[in-house]
Amino acid sequence: MKIPIAAIRRLTLHDGPGTRTTVFVKGCPLHCRWCHNPECLSARPQLLFHDNLCAGCGKCATVCTEGCHSVSPRTIDRSRCRLCGKCVDGCWCGALEICGRDYTPEALLPLLMRDADFYESGGGVTVSGGEPLLYAEAVTLLFSLLHERGIRTALDTCGEASWEAFEAVLPFTDLVLFDIKGMDPERHRENTGRDNGRILGNLHRLGERGVPVEIRMPVVPGCNDSEGEFEAAARFLARIPSVVAVRLLPYRSLARSKYRAAGIADTMPDEPTPDKAFLESRAAILRRNLAMPIQIMS
Ligand code: SF4
Ligand code: SF4
Repeated sequence: MKIPIAAIRRLTLHDGPGTRTTVFVKGCPLHCRWCHNPECLSARPQLLFHDNLCAGCGKCATVCTEGCHSVSPRTIDRSRCRLCGKCVDGCWCGALEICGRDYTPEALLPLLMRDADFYESGGGVTVSGGEPLLYAEAVTLLFSLLHERGIRTALDTCGEASWEAFEAVLPFTDLVLFDIKGMDPERHRENTGRDNGRILGNLHRLGERGVPVEIRMPVVPGCNDSEGEFEAAARFLARIPSVVAVRLLPYRSLARSKYRAAGIADTMPDEPTPDKAFLESRAAILRRNLAMPIQIMS
């Protein structure tokens, strides 16, 4: 029972209440155009190349037995890569990295317990991604081990998962962070690769079960930011009694270098970050209909 992990970030402040440690899993059923963790899209390990750190010394090309690296011009043929790690070890600039390592819940536990003192701020552990519910059985065990030690847990999900996966994890989950990426099913499919039928159905069921849910809404110009989208979201959320807060996440195109590093096509919209007045106008639509806190994230 293993989970492919892209990263473990310590002392995070925006992945649930208090100070937290956030585990980013690899693998996601959606493919959002604006994804800011593209290294988490695939569940498989990947060779990342950070071009800003490369000194062009050619050591990687020397040590790679598969001929993946070329320095002039600087290219990497990942189709031949066996992920042996020799070039990573050989690069003195830290420009190469293998992203993705399998952990059992038992192996993750001591890494997460290192920060137990910080969790006393009301924080805990968040599992994010990627989509944690792809690994529902392992996440359930991880959360149960954390609960045994008095550590609070949060599940950060895109919602595109079976209800059975939710049911497994929920008994050991204190808070669900749930993304709404759009209300129009066809636009949702264009923006993420799938429609939102199952996602909204799962959110409705979380409400029926009384599970505390914090909603995350990325605000992406030209994709999901119309008045109609927010009015529809407000009507829908008004029927979910267990929503404790809604946070708007303004689009930023800062992740472009991550696409280059992973060697995958950059799908991020060529759009600016929405300004404060625009975000306030969308928050106002939600506030007119909903009683819970509506926050614009920085
Ligand atoms: S990980 Fe190994 S096979 Fe892949 S590029 Fe580096 S040295 Fe070559
Ligand atoms: S070893 Fe590192 S610094 Fe040298 S060319 Fe390869 S990636 Fe660049």
